[in-house]
Amino acid sequence: MRVITHSCPECGTVVAANELEANRVMKCPGLECEAVLRFDDLDLEAREHFVDHREQYQI
Ligand SMILES: [Zn+2]
Repeated sequence: MRVITHSCPECGTVVAANELEANRVMKCPGLECEAVLRFDDLDLEAREHFVDHREQYQI
């Protein structure tokens, strides 16, 4: 299965696409990082792949 993640542009913390999709907008989990991460920050192609295969990403 393809792993879709997003790296915080501020601190580089990697967040899984399913976390972003569940929250839509979330504060970066990185320590002392105030960046806000959005599902929409993922590439369109990655978002479409995730939505098409959402059931594979449930944990
Ligand atoms: Zn961050």
